[in-house]
Amino acid sequence: MDSLPQSIILNIFSYLPYKFVRKTASLVCKVWLQISQDKSLIKYARDTEFSKVKAQNSSKETVDNFRQAVKWRPCLFQSIDLSGASTNWSTFCEIVENCTRLTVLNMARMQGGLSEYPVIRAINIWELNLSETKLDDSHLVFITESISSLGILNVCRCENLTDTRINNASFDSLRFLGLAHCKVGVDSIICAIQKHEIFAMCVEGVTLSRDDISHLLDLFPDLAEIGIPAVCGLPQGTVSSEALQPLCFYCLSSPLNTV
Ligand SMILES: [Zn+2]
Repeated sequence: MDSLPQSIILNIFSYLPYKFVRKTASLVCKVWLQISQDKSLIKYARDTEFSKVKAQNSSKETVDNFRQAVKWRPCLFQSIDLSGASTNWSTFCEIVENCTRLTVLNMARMQGGLSEYPVIRAINIWELNLSETKLDDSHLVFITESISSLGILNVCRCENLTDTRINNASFDSLRFLGLAHCKVGVDSIICAIQKHEIFAMCVEGVTLSRDDISHLLDLFPDLAEIGIPAVCGLPQGTVSSEALQPLCFYCLSSPLNTV
C-alpha cells in the first residue's frame, strides 16, 4: 500500500465503514492517519453509522468535524448528544436547520448568547435539552412553536426565562418539563399543568412561598395525595408519603445535582 497514491488509498477508505477508518485504519501509519482525517470521507459513511452521536464535553476540533458531517450528510443523524461540548448558538442552528431525521438533541451548557432565528427543519425532535444555556423567552416560544412534537424539554438553569413566556410557549405534546433552578414562580407551574397539561416536571431550586404551595395544592389536590401530576423538587412534606414519587429526568441525570 505504501506505493499507492494517496488518492487511491482515500478511494479504498471510502468503501470501508467510516468509524473503522477513523479509529482503526488511522493507527497503521502517519500516511493512513492523515488520509483517514480527510473530511470528504463522511460523504461515504453508511446511514446507520451516525444515527447516534455521543460527543459530550468534546473539543472545538471534534465539534468542527461534526459540523462538517452535518453539512455533508445531515440525514444521518437521529440522536445527538453534544452536552458540555464546545458549541454555540450557530451549532444549534446548523443542526436544526439540516438534520431533518433528528429525534433527540442534547445541547446542555451550549456557550454564548442567542442571535438569529433558524429555519427549523428538525421538526420531529421529541427530546430536547437546552439546560444551563442563555435560552431566553422569545427563543423558547419560537422553538416550541416550531417543534410541536416535543415530549421532553429540559430548560433547567436557564436564567433568562421568565413566567410570562413559559405561559406563552407551545407545549402541544410535552410530557416532561425541567424548570429546575430557573427564575420562575408558581404561575409557570400552574400554567404548565393547567394550560399545557404537562404530566411531569422538575422545579427543584425554584423559589416557592408557603402561600404558593397551598395555592398549588388547592388547585391540584391529586398532586399531594397520589403524586399526579408528578412534580419533583417541592418542599419536603408537600406530597404525602404514600403518593407516587416523581421519577425526574433532570435529577437523575444532572451532574450538578449530586447528593
Ligand atoms: Zn427533579
